[in-house]
Amino acid sequence: SKNLVEFRNLETHFHTSAGVVKAVDKVSFSIREGETIGVVGESGCGKSVTAMSLMQLVEAPHGVIAGGEIFYQEKDLLKLSKREMGRIRGKEISIIFQEPMSSLNPVLTIGDQITEPLKMHLLLDRKEAKKRAIELINLVGIPRAEKIFDSYPHELSGGMRQRVMIAIALSCDPKLLIADEPTTALDVTIQAQILDLMREIKKKLNTAIMLITHDLGVVAEMADYVVVMYAGKIIEEAPVHELFKNPQHPYTKGLLKAKPVIGQNQERLYSIPGQVPNPIELGDNCHFHDRCEFCMDICRQKQPEFRSHGNKLHKTACWLYEEARGV
Ligand code: SF4
Ligand code: MG
Repeated sequence: SKNLVEFRNLETHFHTSAGVVKAVDKVSFSIREGETIGVVGESGCGKSVTAMSLMQLVEAPHGVIAGGEIFYQEKDLLKLSKREMGRIRGKEISIIFQEPMSSLNPVLTIGDQITEPLKMHLLLDRKEAKKRAIELINLVGIPRAEKIFDSYPHELSGGMRQRVMIAIALSCDPKLLIADEPTTALDVTIQAQILDLMREIKKKLNTAIMLITHDLGVVAEMADYVVVMYAGKIIEEAPVHELFKNPQHPYTKGLLKAKPVIGQNQERLYSIPGQVPNPIELGDNCHFHDRCEFCMDICRQKQPEFRSHGNKLHKTACWLYEEARGV
């Protein structure tokens, strides 16, 4: 299928008093129609900033898109006016966040919040919007839709609120749904239910999903394709089965080891030693070098190229896989 979104060398920077943070540093990848792409990494690796850049919600003057292009159906979103972007955001591309309580307006009813984008983007009148809202509440598996329509966010559980957020995000039948840690704030049983719901929706509506998570377990269940980010860069990408079968980058291997074993009631058995580097001090080298057990001299001196080492769909940036080592 066709590319729906294509990031080309995206650079998103934040100007801080300590210096420039390259939160997203020349990131390129694409999302095909109907595909679920998992964007994985520890917090602070640039996953959310990539999504915010796509939605053009990076805030000036501190946050700026310093370079690159973001194509959506062959249009460069970065060249659109605020108004044109406003017509895409919430309609063709929508987003759900980790914490539904802070994204829902506490003083408006659920019905008001679901009907708002329907009135704004689809120009439905009150009656039509209510009818569609009730359908959406049913679609996301909330019982007694009529009653929920008139309820306020605080009257619902966390899981129900996340379902409402999904209903709002789906209201205008978007081509792409961005889900930023959509289940992280929920308890395990509810997490599983929300993931089931997202899978159902994907099947029913063929919506592409950009699923941002630190949890490879979630990726294994949901994604077709995986992009692994570290310190603002993509360091590995592959189809999901390939990535789990044959992880290449030492960081990805570490994340896989850190994955809690399903069915075992244990906390993380292993976590990658060390911390994400200070984003202001990053050099032109492998940003993972001081956490990597395979680090060689060249890793500290030069950035490895991001490329395939055999399987065309599988790419990695790591000196271990370069034939010409120590160039
Ligand atoms: Fe480790 Fe070197 Fe590969 Fe970086 S490039 S992940 S330091 S082996
Ligand atoms: Mg985040």
